[in-house]
Amino acid sequence: MTILVIDIGGTKISVATWSEGKIADRAVYPTPASPADFEDCLALLIRNASGINAVAVCATGFTDGAVMYAVNRSMISFWNGYPLRATVEKLTTLPVIIVNDAQAAAWGEYRVQSSDKDLMFVTLSTGVGAGLILDGQLRHGPRGLAGHLGHSRSQVDALDGCQPCSCGQLGCLETVASGAALARQASRELGREVDAAEVHTLATDGNVRMLTLLQNAALAVKTSLLQISATLDLRRILIGGSVGLAPLTIQLIKQAMQQDTPDLFKVDIQPARLGPDAGLIGVGYLFVDRRHVTSQ
Ligand SMILES: [Zn+2]
Repeated sequence: MTILVIDIGGTKISVATWSEGKIADRAVYPTPASPADFEDCLALLIRNASGINAVAVCATGFTDGAVMYAVNRSMISFWNGYPLRATVEKLTTLPVIIVNDAQAAAWGEYRVQSSDKDLMFVTLSTGVGAGLILDGQLRHGPRGLAGHLGHSRSQVDALDGCQPCSCGQLGCLETVASGAALARQASRELGREVDAAEVHTLATDGNVRMLTLLQNAALAVKTSLLQISATLDLRRILIGGSVGLAPLTIQLIKQAMQQDTPDLFKVDIQPARLGPDAGLIGVGYLFVDRRHVTSQ
C-alpha cells in the first residue's frame, strides 16, 4: 500500500509518499496563513500524488478525526473548528485519516524502536506536545487531547517568571521549555531578538546565561516527565522535535534526571530515532494500524 502522508505544522507542511514504513519524495512547503490558500496547497499536494491508495494527515492541534482545534491559536490562526477531513475528502475519493502530529510521531517511534508495550514521545519544538502508547495502544482520547503535556502546569517557572499561556492557563510547561519560550526568555535576557537555535549555539560556546536558561528548561521538562512517569509507570521516554533533538537538550534533561531523583522514579530518556520524519512515518503506520488507536 502506498499512502500520501502529510504533516501540517504551524510554520511548514511536510509531504511524502509512504510505503511499508519508508517515505520517499519528501517535500516541504510554508504553511499558508489563510484557509483559502491552505486549501489550494492541499489540492496541489493531492493532485501531484500518483499511485496512492490513501491520504494520512497529521497536524498540530487536537482533533476528533474530522475537525481541527488549536490549544495555542498562535500556531495556525484558523484552527478553531476547521473541517480538515471534509476539506481533504473534497479533493480525493481515497480513504483519509486525520490525527494529531505528536500522536502520529509517537506511533512511528513505537513501531520502529520499542520492545515495550508502553512508550511516551515528547516533542520539544515551537510548542511542547506528546504522544502516549499504553499497553500497545495509542491513547487518542475522546476529544483528541491526549498527550498535551505542554499545557500542564510546570513546577519550575520560566526565568522571566510565571507566564500566561496562550491556552488560557498560567505557567504551562510550554511557557518554560518550548522553542518559543526559550526565544522569549533569551531575548529579554540579552536585549535583542534571539531564536531557540541561537540559544543552543551560545550555550554550547560557553555563554553562562544561555546555559542557565537551558538548564532551567531541562529541569522543568524533567519535573513534568517524573510526574507523568510516576502516574503511569513509564520506563522510557523519547524526546524529539527541533529543540528536543539539539544535543544539549537531551544531555541537560539526563543530568537533571540524575539530580535529586530517587532511583525508583528515574526514567530512561532517549532521543527519538525518526527525527523530523517521525510524524510522516508514524501517520502512515497509523493508517494501516487504525485498530490500535483508542477512543477515536
Ligand atoms: Zn498552556
